[in-house]
Amino acid sequence: MENSNNNKSKKQQLQSVRGMNDILPSEAFYWEVLENIVKNLLLSHAYSPIRLPIVEPTPLFKRAIGEITDIVEKEMYSFVDSLNGETLTLRPEGTAGCVRAVIQHHLATQQNQKLFYIGPMFRHERPQKGRYRQFTQIGVETFGYDDANIELELILIGAKLWKALGLQDNIRLEINTLGELHERKNFRENLIKFFEIPQNLEIIKQDADAFRRLYTNPLRILDSKNPQIGELCQSPQMPKLFDFLGENSQTQFENLQNGLQKLGIPFSVNSRLVRGLDYYNRTVFEWITNDLGTQGTVCAGGRYDGLVEQLGGKATTACGFAMGVERLIALLMDKDKQNSKNNFGNLVENLQRPDVFVMYDKNCQDSEILAMQIAENLREIKNLKVLVNFGGGSFKSQFKKADASKAKFAIIIGESEVANNVVQIKNLQTQQQSQILISEICNYEF
Ligand code: ATP
Ligand code: MG
Repeated sequence: MENSNNNKSKKQQLQSVRGMNDILPSEAFYWEVLENIVKNLLLSHAYSPIRLPIVEPTPLFKRAIGEITDIVEKEMYSFVDSLNGETLTLRPEGTAGCVRAVIQHHLATQQNQKLFYIGPMFRHERPQKGRYRQFTQIGVETFGYDDANIELELILIGAKLWKALGLQDNIRLEINTLGELHERKNFRENLIKFFEIPQNLEIIKQDADAFRRLYTNPLRILDSKNPQIGELCQSPQMPKLFDFLGENSQTQFENLQNGLQKLGIPFSVNSRLVRGLDYYNRTVFEWITNDLGTQGTVCAGGRYDGLVEQLGGKATTACGFAMGVERLIALLMDKDKQNSKNNFGNLVENLQRPDVFVMYDKNCQDSEILAMQIAENLREIKNLKVLVNFGGGSFKSQFKKADASKAKFAIIIGESEVANNVVQIKNLQTQQQSQILISEICNYEF
């Protein structure tokens, strides 16, 4: 009996965790190209890489993100390490850990910092297109920069990236200002009064999250995804945060808008944009697409001057953004399906396909060794991507594999080629074949 149970469990197929996806090679090549473009762009603006743990102490996120947020209330993967009793959380976002590291290693006490990281984040959400339980963010965080220049640079990096990806017509910019904490307090009281008007309260009461936040975090109601609340927030009677800002905050927001105009970056002001996280102040911005349904925000960021001090560091201004890689990849792949000849698709195809497919005669050991030597020379001297076909088989079947690999050239090495110190090189697009002396291969125009 026990035996048959064992057999059964051995045979049962194991599946990935719901909402946590395998990225298979055909899609992973898109990721490689995207990551390379982003990294080069950030390095060209003198940003430095930082690599951070995936697991952090749970209190870090509670303090950084705020108790009354979707993430902390219901999305975190938290657990007790049974070996030592520590309470830990799989990071739901990157900023908190980055700030923790900056404080711990005194990175921003002597000099300003511009940092970036790429990695997985975890949130227990309902999986759907563009929303997963494990997803990847590219995060950019700056420390010590106080004026709108840094905000402009962060937005410019986004704009340049969409252009490099061919997505400039698919992604638009929305900005807003949250002002300073004391200005928001005033607004908050007025906002609560507005929501307390009986017919408004009826609507709020129907949404458990909104109702719960009415007195704890009413600003959060503004970015509710509930359409009825959205409509309520369009009401002309609703107080506008901008009207509660002091002169300084208003001027800073105007400077930002002037700067964007000078850079030629189109934007719209969205006064409901408050971001999901507690630690933002002053400028907030989102890059949004209409092409992914309700999962439209591909990149979100802003200023969070209070966070370093809140987490125990010396007061340091800070500003950054995070983009969701899955949503960008979905946009890129959808675009590729519609229009096979776009630039990004070509980059992916070039990365995927070998330049040269080398085939040899499995029955002739010398041809096998020669194949590997030639491949190595082409990689080292000509910087080519070379696939040696280890599978053997007839040359006819090897040609089929060469075509399937989309290689541009095939090199054929049989017994007679070994005997004569030559190889056959075939251009798989034109079908032209020529015989080349082995000593001359590196002079061939691939
Ligand atoms: P949303 O409103 O879509 O829930 P958010 O405000 O929770 O987003 P942030 O915490 O600002 O998102 O994260 C920055 C970016 O990370 C988002 O704009 C999005 O592109 C991406 N992102 C957030 N949550 C997910 C998820 N569950 N799956 C995939 N991408 C995500
Ligand atoms: Mg969310």
